[in-house]
Amino acid sequence: MQKQIVGYSVKNQPIEVYYNQNPNAKFSILFLGGVHGNESEGFIFLERFLKEIDQKNIKIPSEISLWICPRINPDGCSVLRRTNAHNVDLNRNLPTKDWTSDFTEPKYYPGPYPSSEPETIATLVLIHNIKPKFIISFHSYENPMINYNGNCLELAEEMAKYNHLEPKGDIGYPTPGSLGTYAGFENNIPTITLEILRGQAPDEVWKQHLDAILKSLEFYL
Ligand SMILES: [Zn+2]
Repeated sequence: MQKQIVGYSVKNQPIEVYYNQNPNAKFSILFLGGVHGNESEGFIFLERFLKEIDQKNIKIPSEISLWICPRINPDGCSVLRRTNAHNVDLNRNLPTKDWTSDFTEPKYYPGPYPSSEPETIATLVLIHNIKPKFIISFHSYENPMINYNGNCLELAEEMAKYNHLEPKGDIGYPTPGSLGTYAGFENNIPTITLEILRGQAPDEVWKQHLDAILKSLEFYL
């Protein structure tokens, strides 16, 4: 995989994205991790996924371009904190029509205005440069699920055959300014928010989700 830096965090850490060189690709796919830095299940999975690709244990289908940003919120990930270094919940900071400055708990602080954060800008740069066919954003939650936004119920159902989580169109509480709303609903880029079981051991996460993720790569071929 090649590496690019798509931006810098509040604390000036590089935000890295890895991709395979594929000029003949039919379409691109974007995997995002670490939006919430305390949800290490996701970025640990993606970092292992990258390693296995480099060691040639995983082969990316030749018809696709795969882009992986394991830590879009490097400042949060490095100290296992949900928010970025401005205490902003990056999954409430995207410039959606439903963005609001209201928030119920400090952990959902949406920032002073939409796209106020450098990590949000990096997310937008990735989405608009790559124009992925779909996005999978890796999170974790006590109530694991395949949360799908936009036209990707079939993909969610295919993944469910392998990781045995339930596809759900609604996570159960409002998420203004979220990636699912921005990409999935407002920009026609289907988005899966994969909610891995919070606290699950990395080897168990790997076993439960690897096949579902591999199947997602070839689902639209
Ligand atoms: Zn999350």
